[in-house]
Amino acid sequence: MSRVSGVSGVTGVEEERGVEQERGLIAARIREVLAGPARPVALRGARKVDASGVTEGFWLVTSGERIEACGVADGAHGGVDGGVTAFDMACIEYGVAPSDILDVSGFILVPGYVDIHAHGAWGAAFDDGVDGIEMARAGHMMHGTTRQVLSLITNPVDTLCENLATVRGLMGSRSDILGSHLEGPFLALARKGAHDPECLKDPEPELVEQLLEAANGSLKQITIAPELPHGLSAIRQFAAAGVVPAVGHCDADYAMAGRGFDAGARIMTHMFNAMNGLHHRKPGPIPAAAEDPRVIIELINDGFHVDNAMLKLGLGFAPHRIAFVTDAMSATDCPDGHYLLGALDVNVEDGHARLVSNGAIAGSTLTLEKAVQRAVVELGMAPTDAVEAATLTPARALGFEKANAVTEYPLGLLASGYAADFNLLDADTWAVRSVWCAGRRVK
Ligand SMILES: [Zn+2]
Ligand SMILES: [Zn+2]
Repeated sequence: MSRVSGVSGVTGVEEERGVEQERGLIAARIREVLAGPARPVALRGARKVDASGVTEGFWLVTSGERIEACGVADGAHGGVDGGVTAFDMACIEYGVAPSDILDVSGFILVPGYVDIHAHGAWGAAFDDGVDGIEMARAGHMMHGTTRQVLSLITNPVDTLCENLATVRGLMGSRSDILGSHLEGPFLALARKGAHDPECLKDPEPELVEQLLEAANGSLKQITIAPELPHGLSAIRQFAAAGVVPAVGHCDADYAMAGRGFDAGARIMTHMFNAMNGLHHRKPGPIPAAAEDPRVIIELINDGFHVDNAMLKLGLGFAPHRIAFVTDAMSATDCPDGHYLLGALDVNVEDGHARLVSNGAIAGSTLTLEKAVQRAVVELGMAPTDAVEAATLTPARALGFEKANAVTEYPLGLLASGYAADFNLLDADTWAVRSVWCAGRRVK
């Protein structure tokens, strides 16, 4: 997706070019940092917030790409007896130079955010080849999303295969890319959202095979309307191949959604959006996901895709199973204006993207930084729950909370043995100040 117009006048255009150039440099720097070596990191004095709780005076020491040691300050000045502390010992053991030790008192430290559903940012989409992926990833990385599944929008099958192969090719050198998510082409026509209706298909077994082959192990998630003629068999086929199927963009009722989960679907794609809503006599797919402890539920917390009143209600449906996703498109962190989504015209006004043709919502301009800020500051969600929804829960949806072949070390908590992914946040606003991914400082 690319921007067509927005700011008028020569100065505006020049300003925009300047921003684009600067962002290109940031994307290139992030590529280099991720390809380079990780240096030991030592932080102390933080207020740690993760799914396991809030801890004051928290410290951690990393080596390579993982957290080696962490703990709580022994006392205000050095150890209990004024001697060497566990922190000092860890710094010596893992070779942290004294000048590299950061005192982060007054800041919040959270695990790196994990977004399992987004399409782009900074004027670029994950369907736009290597350059587009690097630019869009940089946009999300600067907002604290250290690891991301790249969602690919519905396209002709050959294009989808190319895009899957591109993601596969990048995964060797980019540890921040967790794999791909195919959002389509197996979606219900009646619930297509901003996906091209011309490209929607029934998931026949040969087609499923073709996509699996093109992805070559990089496909992590696929959204499927279970009521399609081959919907349930495709869910079984993808699950057997190690892909996590997601129920979404569907016209399914309660019973059909339940059959989808029984067949192996383990995610609900952006709850409330592009599916039947809640009705007291026609419960629809949402209660089927809420009552099933195997299912992680995606939620777009931007206050626009889902009204705040329904967000608050939805957050209570499935404690520890709500994953914040952004569903962010290329206009994320960009000015309002006229954009193209594939071949479709999109207008972005006040950060809200809609198709010009029928007004359908065309993705969000949300970042996980904003989603967590909204949750804590506007919705009054408990900080540990808000952080869990942007870290451990999305990681759990795809098995990244355990040691795995992609990230090696588990994601989602600030604890020994976990990946060295963390964000330093402003204590009042929860704005992301600094970011480390796989032991490398990227912001
Ligand atoms: Zn969608
Ligand atoms: Zn999407």
